[in-house]
Amino acid sequence: MQQHDQKPRAERRSGKADHDIVALGIITAAIILFVGTGGSLMPKIIHSWMTDSYSPDVLLSNAVLLNIALLIFGWRRYSDLKEEVRERRLAEQRAQELAEIDPLTGCFNRRAGLPAIDRMLSQASTSGTEVAVMVLDLDNFKQVNDLKGHQLGDRVLQSVAERLGSALPAGSISIRMGGDEFACAMAYSSKASESVEKVAANIIDLVKKPITHEGLEAEVSTSLGIASTHDRGDETADLTAEELIHRADIAMYQAKKRGRNRHFWFEPAMETQFRLRNKLEGAIRRGIALGEFVPYYEQQIDIGTGELVGFEMLARWKSPQYGLVNPDVFIPIAEECELIAQLSESLIRQALRDAKDWAPHLTLSVNISPIQMRDPAFAQRLLQLLVETGFPPTRLEVEITETSLHENLPSVRAMAISLKNQGIKISLDDFGTGYASLAQLRNLPFDRLKIDRSFVAELAKSPEGGELVEAIVLLGNGMNLPITAEGIETPEVLEALKSLGKLKGQGYLYGRPEDAAATRARLSRGELPKGVEDSVSASKPAASVTTDRTAPLAHPFGDRLVS
Ligand code: C2E
Ligand code: CA
Ligand code: CA
Repeated sequence: MQQHDQKPRAERRSGKADHDIVALGIITAAIILFVGTGGSLMPKIIHSWMTDSYSPDVLLSNAVLLNIALLIFGWRRYSDLKEEVRERRLAEQRAQELAEIDPLTGCFNRRAGLPAIDRMLSQASTSGTEVAVMVLDLDNFKQVNDLKGHQLGDRVLQSVAERLGSALPAGSISIRMGGDEFACAMAYSSKASESVEKVAANIIDLVKKPITHEGLEAEVSTSLGIASTHDRGDETADLTAEELIHRADIAMYQAKKRGRNRHFWFEPAMETQFRLRNKLEGAIRRGIALGEFVPYYEQQIDIGTGELVGFEMLARWKSPQYGLVNPDVFIPIAEECELIAQLSESLIRQALRDAKDWAPHLTLSVNISPIQMRDPAFAQRLLQLLVETGFPPTRLEVEITETSLHENLPSVRAMAISLKNQGIKISLDDFGTGYASLAQLRNLPFDRLKIDRSFVAELAKSPEGGELVEAIVLLGNGMNLPITAEGIETPEVLEALKSLGKLKGQGYLYGRPEDAAATRARLSRGELPKGVEDSVSASKPAASVTTDRTAPLAHPFGDRLVS
């Protein structure tokens, strides 16, 4: 449509220009004529009008009058032209602004911002100053937008832009890179890099201040990365705006990873980690498509009777490149690149199919990421999976971690209620590692607490460790919440747990997590751990067990990329 309109407009413009040239010719001729004839004739004409005496040649008089008319016409045309030029200049200025400025925040947009930084860089290199580039990403903006509405979200972005403007020194550049991501550039003297630190700290403080709009209030924080032309241990000569933004972005990612609401300077080692993470992300994407992610199963035992009561599904990645990969490596990346729902649902589908063949009293527990709990459609999709596989909801338990509660309490509550309405049970995983309050425990419809394995491991080591687990068990009893103890590794721990009451337990003492085939074989052999003696022998690694948290994996992520 736009393409379509452009040609006629261009043609119209060139036709107008022709007219303007004709008008200009006429005016010039009129002026020459007037100067040539008007000078001698005008006094005579005026005199004849005043004295009613001899009148000059009528033809000549008319020509002079015509001449005057032409001059008036010319003047009008000139003023019109001047107005047109002014309007055109304004329109061009407006179009340029629209092309360069983000209309919501008044910051440069990305397209215009980068060349602006490049100009700052070349000025800085002539004047011998340094340029620091910061990339900011708001930490919980999506929640504000989703829960409190886009109007407040827009206001937040405007306030952040205003606050950036007030924190940055004069002559700095602010850019809205898109969504809730901003960048800025400031020149500074190489002797005063603490000025950049101060600005960054100030921005973080300012962004944190509450923002109100039409009775609603929002609070966001920001993670900030800084890259600078000033040497920070590597060769930074001739960095472009694009490269500086890339570096600041990597540093910002570190700030996010290390707990948000903070700033980090770029360091070359971050780049290596970033590349490895991106490589992994690509491999995870391909792995999902190729079905490389499979469920493993860990036995859950009634500690008192020693009977098998169910299994917890634990995800494993059978990567042709990296070997058997544990979930601590790939779950955080899958969460970050929004693959977690797809990955988790594919694993749950496989697990429901596997578990359908087990004895009908055996339960299946699955772990759910906090990201999935924010999705209001999750409960519905889980129900669809149950219908699709024909697995009874009453045999399914969903585990959510304690640490995920404080971020998402309203959505966790809504989801937990709808899952419970379908007959699914909900366990609070890793209990003791987060900050669940008694009020939260009462208000959320949990069916079970799982004591984190770090406390269980302490049980046999010190009296304090024992007291802590005992206190949790008492709490569970008081709230009518059954308890599972995770990470039972030794007969001593198991004995100590037995003395605390009726509990369920799981851990390497009973066996390592196994794949579907090994689990089926174990079940068909009826080889169930019945008590301490049996479970001691069961704790010896079986030949089919391929996963081991303590054994080094055949892949390069001993140091996990994302915590
Ligand atoms: P978790 O839910 O607390 O799972 C228990 C973890 O402890 C498992 O590690 C298990 O292999 C390990 N474990 C079990 N018994 C023992 C023991 O006696 N000693 C020790 N030291 N460790 C034991 P894994 O499989 O590496 O899983 C780590 C975490 O990854 C899980 O912790 C869970 O939070 C998460 N995860 C696993 N599968 C999934 C999944 O499908 N979705 C999501 N969102 N998270 C998952
Ligand atoms: Ca779990
Ligand atoms: Ca756990």
